[in-house]
Amino acid sequence: MIVLTNVSKTYGDGSTSASVGRRETRPAAHKTDGRQHALWSIDLTVESERCVALLGSSGSGKSTLLRLVLGLIVPDSGSITIAGLPMQPDTAQRLRLRVGYVIQDGGLFPHLSALENVTLVARLVGWERDDIDRRVETLTTLVGLSASLLSHYPVELSGGERQRVGLMRALMLDPPVLLLDEPLGALDPVIRARLQDDLRRIFKDLKKTVLLVTHDVGEAAFLADEIAILNDGILLQKGVLKDLIERPQDPFVAEFLQAQRPRWTDALGAP
Ligand code: ADP
Ligand code: MG
Repeated sequence: MIVLTNVSKTYGDGSTSASVGRRETRPAAHKTDGRQHALWSIDLTVESERCVALLGSSGSGKSTLLRLVLGLIVPDSGSITIAGLPMQPDTAQRLRLRVGYVIQDGGLFPHLSALENVTLVARLVGWERDDIDRRVETLTTLVGLSASLLSHYPVELSGGERQRVGLMRALMLDPPVLLLDEPLGALDPVIRARLQDDLRRIFKDLKKTVLLVTHDVGEAAFLADEIAILNDGILLQKGVLKDLIERPQDPFVAEFLQAQRPRWTDALGAP
């Protein structure tokens, strides 16, 4: 389970404090006072073995939220726990081994082969060669990658292949939690649809707790149990797509879903 409680994050001079991390005190011109208020008073829970999709326009704070959960950046106020353990600077490194992270285009190290990318962390934490080999074999089958591609460098792989390698890398240590930041954003529609099918199967089969960022409502509805809509650093509403459509709690939610109507009419099987 991932739990964020009253989490706020400001970029810039970092002078914000818990006292301004509350929605009511958020200044109207919050991006013109010299600091970047990326997230405001976020309360969000992802239950174990469930997938929540974070949806919102560019700049709404989605990647910031993921980076906070991963412990790459530190919140100004509030707390984050993963499986009951607090994410803080002294625990971040240990907790991060329990979290798989996938970004757009795989985020692979260009100077390492696919295999070296996938096995890097396992080797660092001292896994035995045999265990590594067995795990790679399992994952190659799981993500549907041709084993002959493992010796290739990222530049020698297609976008979809890079993304599959990125997914293998994230799954290598079998973490209970997966964070995916627009993992399919760079792919063409056919490859994207295939990977959506594979991701959905993998989330369910492996019983992962998943926080997925996308800007595509159809993809969110297909992959996630619930959707959380962010705008301008505020979490406006979380729920199943049908509820968000029928009972939007903020005009932006209605507007955002309306703008992508063709995508969710497919997802809901509406005429
Ligand atoms: P999203 O992923 O939804 O597009 P981000 O989380 O990347 O949004 O960004 C949220 C806001 O924080 C944006 O206004 C962005 O410009 C700002 N921001 C993100 N990263 C940084 C950074 N490292 N330094 C300063 N501002 C940042
Ligand atoms: Mg982003």
